[in-house]
Amino acid sequence: MSDAKILIIEDNESNMMLFRDLLTLAGFHVLEASDAEAGIELARAHRPDVILMDIQLPGMDGFNATRIITTDPDLKDIPVVALTSYAMEKDMMEAKEAGCTKFISKPINTREFTKTVAGVISDRQNRWRGLK
Ligand code: MN
Repeated sequence: MSDAKILIIEDNESNMMLFRDLLTLAGFHVLEASDAEAGIELARAHRPDVILMDIQLPGMDGFNATRIITTDPDLKDIPVVALTSYAMEKDMMEAKEAGCTKFISKPINTREFTKTVAGVISDRQNRWRGLK
């Protein structure tokens, strides 16, 4: 679990710093991108175990980036967790439709954040082992 790779796509520097610090402290390897295009490129190059996707990004938004990832044969098995500061039902629905497996609202609960991300990774690993 601790050598799992997590790709964070987030344009806000202080959010990025917080997410990176929490996940690095928990022993994860963290990859960072500040826009969707760079994030998708990193996903292709490194095949992370999970992608944390900010929804409001410069250029392509997180919904469209998620649609690209979840319909790409090489990337579609990577779970995408939406991160958004406007936790409205409409956004949750759109994130779900785009293919996000989970939704985390910002500001995050720092104690829950790492647990939620770790849960998505272990669900995925268990699925591969046929445990779920
Ligand atoms: Mn943003």
